[in-house]
Amino acid sequence: MIKEQILCSIRGCLDEKGVVEDAIAMAPYLSDRRGDFSAVTQMVVRPSSTHEVSNIVKICAAVDVGIVPQSGNTGLVGGSIPDGSGNQILLSLDRMNRVRDMDVLNQTMTVDAGCILADVQAAADETGLLFPLSLAAEGSCRIGGNIGTNAGGTQVLRYGNTRDLVLGLEVVLPNGEVWDGLRRLRKDNTGYNLKQLFVGSEGTLGIITAAVLKLYPKPRQAVTVFAAVVSPLAANEFLSCCRQECGDTVTTFEYMHRHCLDIVLDKIPGTRDPLGARYEHYLLIQVDSPQNGNGLRESLEFALEKGFEAGQVEDAVVSTNIEQSRELWRIRESIPEAAKINGSGIRHDVSVPVSEVATFLREGQRIVRHYLPNAYLIPFGHYGDGNIHYNMLKPPEMEIQDFRALEHELRQDIYHLVTKLGGSFSAEHGIGQLKRQDLVRFRSDVELGIMHQIKAALDPKNIMNPGKVL
Ligand code: FAD
Repeated sequence: MIKEQILCSIRGCLDEKGVVEDAIAMAPYLSDRRGDFSAVTQMVVRPSSTHEVSNIVKICAAVDVGIVPQSGNTGLVGGSIPDGSGNQILLSLDRMNRVRDMDVLNQTMTVDAGCILADVQAAADETGLLFPLSLAAEGSCRIGGNIGTNAGGTQVLRYGNTRDLVLGLEVVLPNGEVWDGLRRLRKDNTGYNLKQLFVGSEGTLGIITAAVLKLYPKPRQAVTVFAAVVSPLAANEFLSCCRQECGDTVTTFEYMHRHCLDIVLDKIPGTRDPLGARYEHYLLIQVDSPQNGNGLRESLEFALEKGFEAGQVEDAVVSTNIEQSRELWRIRESIPEAAKINGSGIRHDVSVPVSEVATFLREGQRIVRHYLPNAYLIPFGHYGDGNIHYNMLKPPEMEIQDFRALEHELRQDIYHLVTKLGGSFSAEHGIGQLKRQDLVRFRSDVELGIMHQIKAALDPKNIMNPGKVL
């Protein structure tokens, strides 16, 4: 238990909105959305400035109390949830949500870490610019968490991961010092790239309190396609064709198996099958451009024509207006929700080189069939990035304990397959609490040794999100 004297010192740094100690008020901070992780703590703190974060960290560092940073709490690996000891405090960034600066001519914005991603996008949009990070949780996740996890999302193909969108950071270090690295520079070769250490470190090296983000010209035209392809390999060939014909305007190239469409149509009201017939493999493709004119649609239609001729594409619908585009997007974005309504499942967030996705899907199915001949496979994800959410639902007739009993071995076989194909067992969700053992199993001693040395150098007392990642 944390001593009352320490809790009292922390209370002294904050106003009354900054401290939550009532069990009911703390509850939303202490479990994740899927209900996979839950915790206890004596105190949730909600600082409103970097100075307050720094003061809290200094108090905790002096007495070795662990701190768990939390932004939107939409993470999927338990990274923002304390352990069960009750000895860690949870530090929420949810009150730090100011846009600090908008530099239109430099195409950057500087924001507090607690800004909700959708608000960051909207603020950029108001100035005629685009912040391209986009994911289904964007209405709830916050930029500090996006940076902490190096979030991917649906536009990585064109704009990169969060890592590629961050120019500068402000971080409260585990000793309470503030590192001001809020530089708005596109070129800065002054020693080690410190900011990249914190991106994706899942709160284990420091608390990100603000960031400088890269902005881009806003698309003036966009076209969405929902297409059926004959196989995952055909999807890969068609991706090459689209990129050849449409260049960098290909922003999104998402895959979903028919089963995904089926659960969405079944569980999400107002959705409908965009194509007349039933196929097995589908793509959602978005091309967009800041330029005016019709060239975009023509290039895409030409790519589709080539895809039909080459026998890759079986059927397709091309959006003609924004409403239609939203309808097509809704199908893809509703898959996690529909899967959740369907009940228990096994999920993998894996990546392989794009050229190996088809092999992964084929071999992965063999593994699943070996353990669970009747599992309902629902693979979907960011084909253009080689990142597949390789998920499956429990067969209805199977007891949950029998299903869970197979999970570990099945998962290890999938991860071995991914490793054999040169891939990663965690593409975009991180390690958190969930995949710590896998990190040990699937990363080399050399790699783990470097990570431990970095952690020890920055956080020798191990107070920053203890028990996560390493
Ligand atoms: P949190 O869950 O609060 O925290 C995540 C991690 O970051 C924790 O380890 C936490 O300690 C750390 N952290 C939080 N704030 C800070 C900070 N200020 N400084 C340092 N560390 C911090 N992820 C993707 O990458 N791509 C997707 O397409 C995607 N789709 C999703 C769809 C749904 C429906 C849901 C529920 C989740 C999805 N996710 C996706 C996962 C999740 O949304 C992302 O990981 C997101 O970036 C987490 O942001 P958050 O603000 O919720 O972070």
